[in-house]
Amino acid sequence: MPAPNSATVIGLGPMGSAMAQVLLRNDVAVTVHNRTAARADALVTAGATRADDPPSALRAADLILISLIDYPAMYALLGDATDELSGKVLVNLSSGTPEEVREAARWAADHGATLLAAGIMVPAALVGDPSAYTFVAGDRAALQQHSDVLGLLGKPEYVGADPALAMHWYQAMLATFMITLTGVYQSAAMINKAGVPAKELMPRLSELLASMPYFLADTAQLLDDRRYPDDGASLAMMTAGIDHITRMSESAGIDPTVPAAVRTLNLRAIDMGHAQDGGFAVYEAIMVPGTEERA
Ligand code: NDP
Repeated sequence: MPAPNSATVIGLGPMGSAMAQVLLRNDVAVTVHNRTAARADALVTAGATRADDPPSALRAADLILISLIDYPAMYALLGDATDELSGKVLVNLSSGTPEEVREAARWAADHGATLLAAGIMVPAALVGDPSAYTFVAGDRAALQQHSDVLGLLGKPEYVGADPALAMHWYQAMLATFMITLTGVYQSAAMINKAGVPAKELMPRLSELLASMPYFLADTAQLLDDRRYPDDGASLAMMTAGIDHITRMSESAGIDPTVPAAVRTLNLRAIDMGHAQDGGFAVYEAIMVPGTEERA
């Protein structure tokens, strides 16, 4: 019978290892398992129990935290251990698609387990920090049953009974994070080609990013309504701008893929009749995929 204040962590990359460390620091009895066993060594030294195989890992606790590169890796580890799943709450904190999450929830239920999907919204170094939070979706009672332990990692933000909702929220947030950072790197490359180091650019970019709430403030309702009144920055003007960024990237000898992708979207929104609308009318091109993307 597993101890009440216990958890198994499966997957010991940077994120799973950080989770296990935070739980150990908070006196949770932690069992760990990883495909590459050596990655558990430091955690065992810190007080964790090593499970040599997936069935032992599942037997050790009722709460199973899974932190793997993707959902297929979960089946690779647990697919031959399904006899041990009955009664377990699996919290899968791995990145995946909504379809993969729903399939995993069905798979867990078929074996008598409950799967909660979760997406932790901080890097590994900030797990357990007051700023950390986790989108969680699935069976609310299972979350409540284990919220004390899960809350040690980051505040659980319950987003709905459909487990896929955790990934809708998580991936939507990451989309802005990753695409914004890619824009930062594009800017750094552009300024580098003018002989200016990135460290001179970053304070300016920090100011720009801090001003983003101004651009978001009135946009939410308009996006929901799919109305794009010109706000003094028309789509036609913004498209000329992104065209300059694309051509400047090309002539500077850096990769133009990112600005060219934005230009493509803008041009399609113009084709849809939005040239004189606000620049955020590009939302229409995102919402309605072009035929070339569908092919
Ligand atoms: P990775 O995404 O690189 O995942 C590493 C883990 O996946 C290791 O335990 C690795 O085992 C295991 N793994 C990979 N392929 C397989 C396989 N075929 N079978 C079994 N195990 C496999 O590292 P992270 O720890 O950084 O991320 C884990 C999850 O956390 C990801 O889904 C990520 O999106 C999410 N996340 C990560 C953040 C971060 O800052 N790192 C932030 C927020 C979320 P092995 O050691 O044997 O290779």
